Amino acid sequence: MKTINLLGSTGSIGVQSLDVARARGYKVEALAAFSDVEKIEQQIREFKPEYAALVDEKAADDLKVRVKDTSTKVLSGMEGVAFCGSEAKGEITLNSVVGMAGLGPTIKAIEAGKTIALANKETLVAGGRLVTDLAKKKGVSILPVDSEHSAIFQCLLGKPSNKALKRIILTASGGPFFGKTKEELKNVTLKDALKHPSWSMGQKITIDSATMFNKGLELIEAVWLFDVSPDMIDIVVHRESIVHSLIEYDDNSVIAQLGHPDMRLPIQFALTYPERFESPEKQLDLWEVGNLTFFKPDYENFPCMDICKDAIRVGGLMPAAVNCANEEANLLFRQEKISFNDIPRLIKEASATLKNKLDYVLEDVYNTDILMRETVRKLASS
Ligand code: NAD
Ligand code: MG
Repeated sequence: MKTINLLGSTGSIGVQSLDVARARGYKVEALAAFSDVEKIEQQIREFKPEYAALVDEKAADDLKVRVKDTSTKVLSGMEGVAFCGSEAKGEITLNSVVGMAGLGPTIKAIEAGKTIALANKETLVAGGRLVTDLAKKKGVSILPVDSEHSAIFQCLLGKPSNKALKRIILTASGGPFFGKTKEELKNVTLKDALKHPSWSMGQKITIDSATMFNKGLELIEAVWLFDVSPDMIDIVVHRESIVHSLIEYDDNSVIAQLGHPDMRLPIQFALTYPERFESPEKQLDLWEVGNLTFFKPDYENFPCMDICKDAIRVGGLMPAAVNCANEEANLLFRQEKISFNDIPRLIKEASATLKNKLDYVLEDVYNTDILMRETVRKLASS
């Protein structure tokens, strides 16, 4: 039986991960989230973990009182979250925290030798080689949960050699604003941006999908996960979200992974790898789907993909800088303080002020985070 520490348990991926754990009878050793006391209390009562943590201190105090009849020990703060991922007994730490807040817990979990199932893409984008080098040193596997990366990972199983891989093709749904021009994007509302055509996800990633920054993050994530250069990665818009991504070999043979859009499949594969089992994924009847369509991405009206590609080409702290600037700009948009087209503008302007370091340590990444957030806020209010 697999044992899991789940970080970000109350979110979209967290809840679906618990669906998988329930269906497969996995033991959940720890649950951690930000502040949703009611949801985590229900999860504690069902899964009976040894530890639970909430970042918010007040919420954690409330939780302690609510679950004092159980044997779960309640922790608080980011240290509590990191403890759940590294010191609790689960052999796999599934990180589905949102944002680069997930970086510290990922590093702690790798240091503790846990297998990492990674949904939290911001971890790899901001941490970059700090994460991958540490994982190599500790002999820890990082298994992708993101559907595109799970698809690539699945396509690569049985690959003849690393050299034969020519290209990775990431599919993108195109989000709710596919086909719109910059002019039309000027006045889109938060409500419009939250209507994703094929996936139901947390708010931050839903906005990232609308700006296509999510695809940029995924490009950087693929660079680190699969050890490829950014120029080996292409993006194709695929509205049906059935083809989850593709790889191309030197002989131009292209291999794809297909399925209905249901995150429980990539979550389950990360947890059961290298085995496969029945899953809640609906069987794919291609005649029912009928048409699969593919389009070139619109780099002109959706500049966030190029912002990310340029950032990883530059390297050093630049991917962290654009990620952190985006986290702040995304938040300001969700607070309805800036308009949609302000998001790429603020990311560009803020990241242009970065004093980059190619050789960086963790502290530099955290300093970049603080600096970029401040810069975005300043630029937004000026
Ligand atoms: P969400 O907002 O629904 O959930 C986020 C979870 O993280 C919640 O449990 C929240 O309490 C917790 N959290 C927030 N800040 C935290 C902190 N500082 N410490 C600990 N926990 C904290 O988000 P989501 O849609 O589940 O996405 C989670 C991650 O997975 C993101 O990185 C996202 O890009 C990635 N991802 C999501 C999907 C999806 O379908 N939702 C698909 C692919 C990748
Ligand atoms: Mg994805």
